[in-house]
Amino acid sequence: MCAAATLLGIAVAAAETPLPRPKPDIPAASKAPASGKRSVPLPRPKPPVGGNGAAAAIALESKPITASRRGRLEVKLDDLGRERDPNVASDLRPSENSKWTSAQIKQARDRCTFVLAATNLDAKPIKPIGGPKGCGIAAPVKVSSFGAVRVRPAATLNCTLAATLYKWVVEEVQPAALKGFKQPVVEINSYAAYQCRSRRGVGGGRISEHSFGNALDIGAFKLASGETISILKDWSGTGSFFGVNKKARFLTRTHKGACKSFATVLGPKANKAHKNHFHFDLGRDGRYKICQ
Ligand SMILES: [Zn+2]
Repeated sequence: MCAAATLLGIAVAAAETPLPRPKPDIPAASKAPASGKRSVPLPRPKPPVGGNGAAAAIALESKPITASRRGRLEVKLDDLGRERDPNVASDLRPSENSKWTSAQIKQARDRCTFVLAATNLDAKPIKPIGGPKGCGIAAPVKVSSFGAVRVRPAATLNCTLAATLYKWVVEEVQPAALKGFKQPVVEINSYAAYQCRSRRGVGGGRISEHSFGNALDIGAFKLASGETISILKDWSGTGSFFGVNKKARFLTRTHKGACKSFATVLGPKANKAHKNHFHFDLGRDGRYKICQ
């Protein structure tokens, strides 16, 4: 029931309505948000909690991120919520002139705390950027690592994207690295993160998902040995042609794996503009899929 409800929606409605209870395995005590207590402990609430334990307990009920029995991280994109209305987002102008209200910031921060609680990423909360009528992020985080994988330079993102990238690193990047190189990736080069701009740079055109901290461009990976895998140098559409080009195969795998989690995945196959990086974004609640 209420599967499409965003965390935001749940948090707003919680004060006056009983909570939906989608999973029968949650202890009954967590049904009572009024107590303000978390009956299920959060694994690792890194960003500061907005002083509202009830919000976290409420959010937990919808379980946007769960660990399966095998330890795989399941991220249900529909339940992660958005800081702005996805239906109007693409029509906005690249501008930082509007400002978030304190209520919008609080809701976004509470949601962020919950969304990142199940992850091991180093995400420092930073000041709100812009507002709801243009570019911006209500609860931005500066991500400097996904677990043991450094992000260079640190990337300013929204929390939903940060959590989804974490999932991709854990489930796709590291398994591909271990399979191909018998060693893990230790660094990701973030080519571009938050930027207030239209899709084709400055000027007209539809606003880019980068403008909402909802996109990350990745230029290269570094292995524990220090070796670099660059999208510009090592991508090849025929990378696995003879089954010998390990770097190309690694890039093909991580690119393909990203299509499970992101709404838009672009790489060198897509066009010349992406010959040197992967672009991942969450688009409009994952409602369209581009995997190129
Ligand atoms: Zn991009």
